[in-house]
Amino acid sequence: MMQNINNWHSLDQNDVLNKLNSSEDGLSSEEAEARLKKYGPNKLQEEKKKSLIVRFLMQFNNLLIYVLLAAAVVTALLDHTIDTVVILGVVVINAIIGFIQENRAQNAMDAIKKMLAFQATVLRDGSKQKIDSQSLVIGDIVFMKPGDRVLADIRLLEAHGFSAQEAPLTGESVAVEKSSKKVASDAIIADRSSMVFAGTTIAGGQAKGVVISTANNTELGRISKMLSSVEVLTTPLVEQMDKFAKYLTFFILSFSLLIFLIGHFVKGLPFNEAFMAVIGLFVAAIPEGLPAVLTITLAVGIQAMAKRNAIVRQLPAIETIGSVSIICSDKTGTLTQNEMMVSSVVTYKEDFKVDGAGYEPIGNFYIKNDKVDINKHEILNFLAKASLLCSDTLLKKEEESWKIEGSPTEGALITFAHKIGFDADEVRRAFKRDDMIPFDSKHKFMATLNHSHEGESLIVIKGAAEIIIKMCQYEYIDKNSKKEINTAYWEDKAKELASEGQRVLALAYKKVPHDKSALDFADLKDELILVSLFGLIDPPRPEAIEALKECYSADIDVKMITGDHLLTATAIGRTIGLKNCENVLSGADIEKMSDKELQSAVLQTDIFARTTPEHKLRLVKAFQAHSKIVAMTGDGVNDAPALKRANVGIAMGKSGTEAAKESSEFVLTDDNFASIVSAIKEGRKVYDNIKKVISWTLPTNAAEASVIIVAIFFGMVMPITPIQILWANMITAITLGIALAFEDEDKNIMKRSPRAIDEPLLSRDLIWHIIYVTFLFLIGVFGAYYYAVQSGATIEYARTLALNVLVFLEIFHLLYIRNLNIIDLKLKDILANRVVWSAISIIVVAQIAITYVGFLQKVFATNSLELFDLILIFVICIFVFVLLESEKQIRLRVFSKSL
Ligand code: ATP
Repeated sequence: MMQNINNWHSLDQNDVLNKLNSSEDGLSSEEAEARLKKYGPNKLQEEKKKSLIVRFLMQFNNLLIYVLLAAAVVTALLDHTIDTVVILGVVVINAIIGFIQENRAQNAMDAIKKMLAFQATVLRDGSKQKIDSQSLVIGDIVFMKPGDRVLADIRLLEAHGFSAQEAPLTGESVAVEKSSKKVASDAIIADRSSMVFAGTTIAGGQAKGVVISTANNTELGRISKMLSSVEVLTTPLVEQMDKFAKYLTFFILSFSLLIFLIGHFVKGLPFNEAFMAVIGLFVAAIPEGLPAVLTITLAVGIQAMAKRNAIVRQLPAIETIGSVSIICSDKTGTLTQNEMMVSSVVTYKEDFKVDGAGYEPIGNFYIKNDKVDINKHEILNFLAKASLLCSDTLLKKEEESWKIEGSPTEGALITFAHKIGFDADEVRRAFKRDDMIPFDSKHKFMATLNHSHEGESLIVIKGAAEIIIKMCQYEYIDKNSKKEINTAYWEDKAKELASEGQRVLALAYKKVPHDKSALDFADLKDELILVSLFGLIDPPRPEAIEALKECYSADIDVKMITGDHLLTATAIGRTIGLKNCENVLSGADIEKMSDKELQSAVLQTDIFARTTPEHKLRLVKAFQAHSKIVAMTGDGVNDAPALKRANVGIAMGKSGTEAAKESSEFVLTDDNFASIVSAIKEGRKVYDNIKKVISWTLPTNAAEASVIIVAIFFGMVMPITPIQILWANMITAITLGIALAFEDEDKNIMKRSPRAIDEPLLSRDLIWHIIYVTFLFLIGVFGAYYYAVQSGATIEYARTLALNVLVFLEIFHLLYIRNLNIIDLKLKDILANRVVWSAISIIVVAQIAITYVGFLQKVFATNSLELFDLILIFVICIFVFVLLESEKQIRLRVFSKSL
């Protein structure tokens, strides 16, 4: 019934609440539960997921598989049953691996999506709670603030300076003002200013409203009934490799055909033999597993980053973050703990110190180390009350620990008020708030208009000290007396506190006539009485100090961009070990500079204080003008442009708005600077591993294929049969190829400079590496084969030896690739990584089986090798490893070039 009404915008608020069976106090949790059952969860219908079987079958939809299936048919027709079975084995194993990898990737993506779920602040059972957007029901009372994503269609009940960005719905990019006043019933969506709609974002102000429709019944749900949920796990590099693999397949297909023609018609190989050789060549040459292994490398990377509290929202960023050369970080909460506590209170004649721990409302007050009786200082009582009125944050005790819901700056003030003995609820009930100017980092203060039942009416304002001081004409002596303000005194005190690293706030007030019901900026122009300064401490995060050191060793510059005071920022900068705390630029300085001047100043400056979010955008541009790859953190709705513009935008998961998250590539679940550095480390690792996978796969394929090409071209006997090549390809691809995706980070990963963002994957050095490895492998395989033949062994024996040399060379090549960038190679670097060693163990067992088990000997035409030849295999492998390592050492040491 409720869902059928569609003129909520033109109804009176009480009518709306009545029709929805709700009230200003919200729903009870039982009622909400019942409604959730009745109307279903608040989410748009998603496309149905494909079933497991369909997803498995889709693995066969691949050019390589078609060719292999065709080959299986031909070999079956030719009565080569064993070959048919082996080829089908390759096909099935390939599909299974593709399937498992795809699943893993999908799971990684799903987990991320869950972590990024939206939350709404609602009134349930009479108190404010955060709930999952899916549990939002019709009739819920919702609170909204700037940056929030609107999660359902909502009729506004109260709105202060409220506006919403409705582009997703109306296409209008300018924010539209909203109010709780009803509008004409024929108003079009864009004119329904008494409503906000799902999918839009709050641009400014604060509001309270009631949910009138959810899920597919919202306006957004109506226009996009079917939202596709299909997302592919890929990045530009992986796409590039994917394309490359496709071209390569076509090229190899044509090339194989050519080799077949040469083999059969020019060299006179029988059809059967030439055909099988070309199938072997085809399978060996194509890096069929490569795209899947790269995908799994990304999936592993995403999971590792999520574990370290960095969630990737836009996949290409996994690559970009590894090459970040400058991190622009907020101070509060990112470099500091964001657990603020009032530690100093300065009044017109006294300096109080306050002690305590966190948000626990217990602490003593001191003047010059002497404990004071708070009851003897009326000003403290006044301050406590005023602080509670001019703030929205709640203080709660949860499982023995005190927590806040809201801003830590306000949390500190509220805790201070509780220490004095006031209860937030009581004070806020006694002095009803009629209007407010919400806090904005642009004007850096917040003001409220309150009326008591006894007829007392006042405006309270709190904010950045130097701004409030300038706004005041008087200073507080007691409730009934004031005197002209001594600006110099207050400014000196504010500086004193700031240079100790404290965030300095000031609180002022004025009395107003009782009939005043609206508050606006003009009301703050005169008659304000400054009551006190608050000095808030916010200790640095110890892990940020460590992370900062790591950044410097990795040649990454760190810039602190803060809304806080210059002196506070400098003191914190020094404590955490920021390199250059002498040159500080303020928001005002930045404003005076042209873009050119800013560009020439930014690199030498590490602290930007008293900035507004608009400055962040200019700073990002200035750094980018120096070709820097910039990571920028942000939380507010106004940070969105800078986050978008930065190469890697990083939003705060805890304190960040949805608007900031939506403009970012990463979301930090713990708001911690150290997590950014972990993500960079992971990003570097993912790139390294992608590179390792490619650097291992391509030469391996080239070498396997070359064995066949060389044999056919020079009319030699095949040193390894095509079916054996299929075996080698399969057994190594499913073990070694995948193991590299799980490779740990290089030990020098944070001691290297950031990689150039446009570095090509298939560099000239990598191509050289492919040629070099192919050459060494060919010598190893043909050498072993001819050595065995010369010593009178059967051709089967010689081939078994050559096959084992090939497979073990691949293992040693992998051990080499694992430490591609390490100059001071130690034995433990070679031996690390359990996944690699599990893969190697599987291969060793498989090779023992194919070499010594009678049944397999028949299938693959192999022979048992003697001990001496087993030793020979290792000697060859170690020799090749040394040659590979020597080339690397020369390349890294002499030419400073990595692959
Ligand atoms: P950072 O940029 O380092 O993360 P921040 O984001 O907390 O710091 P802003 O939120 O822009 O910085 O705050 C700037 C100044 O505004 C603070 O230094 C403080 O003086 C004042 N301020 C912060 N929060 C409030 C609030 N809730 N009410 C009034 N004033 C505030």
